[in-house]
Amino acid sequence: MREFAYQRATQVHDALTAVAENAGARYLGGGTNLVDLMKSGVEEPTRLVDVRQLPLDGVRDAPDGGLVIGATTTNSDAAAHPEVRRRFPALAQAVLAGASGQLRNMATVGGNLLQRTRCGYFADPAQPCNKRVPGSGCAAIAGVHHNHAVLGHSPHCVATHPSDMAVALAAFDAVVHYQTLAGAGEIPLSRFYLPTGDRPDRETALPPGALITAVALPGAAAGPRSRYRKVRERASYAFATVSIAAALDVRDGVVRDVRIALGGVASRPWRARSAEAVLRGARPTADRFRSAAEAELDAAVPLRDNGYKVTLARNLVVAVLGELAGTEQDR
Ligand code: SF4
Repeated sequence: MREFAYQRATQVHDALTAVAENAGARYLGGGTNLVDLMKSGVEEPTRLVDVRQLPLDGVRDAPDGGLVIGATTTNSDAAAHPEVRRRFPALAQAVLAGASGQLRNMATVGGNLLQRTRCGYFADPAQPCNKRVPGSGCAAIAGVHHNHAVLGHSPHCVATHPSDMAVALAAFDAVVHYQTLAGAGEIPLSRFYLPTGDRPDRETALPPGALITAVALPGAAAGPRSRYRKVRERASYAFATVSIAAALDVRDGVVRDVRIALGGVASRPWRARSAEAVLRGARPTADRFRSAAEAELDAAVPLRDNGYKVTLARNLVVAVLGELAGTEQDR
């Protein structure tokens, strides 16, 4: 590991200044991804600015009936918060589906959004990888890619985003709040992750040096009927093969509102807006759920060895919406 300086910030302005004044400096949250990448030589920051002592911890009510989750809140605390569990159950379930208890105790909400892909070629500095070294190529396209993307990828990168939490946040129309030395800003999660395109090394729309301060969940998305389900290669401590966060609001026998986001299928949480459009105003039947899933997955372009993800995603959409509709009908 390359030698680096370490400093602990207790004020947001101090953290922003430290990163602005030191080329190669990086914010350090729980370190559960960054430190691993430093050990393998993928990341080589010159300075780590520890942000865990900043006053950005905790969950509070928003004026619109939603919630604001501070960026340094640990994943464990976010998942355990009673109002997160009550108003946004799929978010609590998604966070609990991620990693292990030990990692969730360390990992922060802000850091979770910024974690890097788990593509094995990205993690190996001996391999060509456009995300790590722009212009070097993509070893995964001709290599091992059974767990790579089927939606939204490009000839330059076919990696998936690893976060479970971000999938639920996408379904709930979350907004990322950040701070720079020039002032505060916010980015809807739908625009937070950049399309893969020809520069997969550029992953988010955050301005240079920006520090994530919070994630806001709008009150309009709150409700008890949402669910997160994750399919993975083993029962715990594994990244999603395909996952889904969904919420369904059925009134008088028709779908009044629906939210669907898929994980494990693209370089960012994939909001399934085509599927949602098929469902809004329709009767919540299994046939309609299947038609909605197929409308979304029409855009899928599977790689040589991951066509199974299209079938899996379709079946997950049908199954989870069916569960949510059944719950509604049982009321
Ligand atoms: Fe790198 Fe993306 Fe290709 Fe993986 S899929 S090797 S991250 S360019």
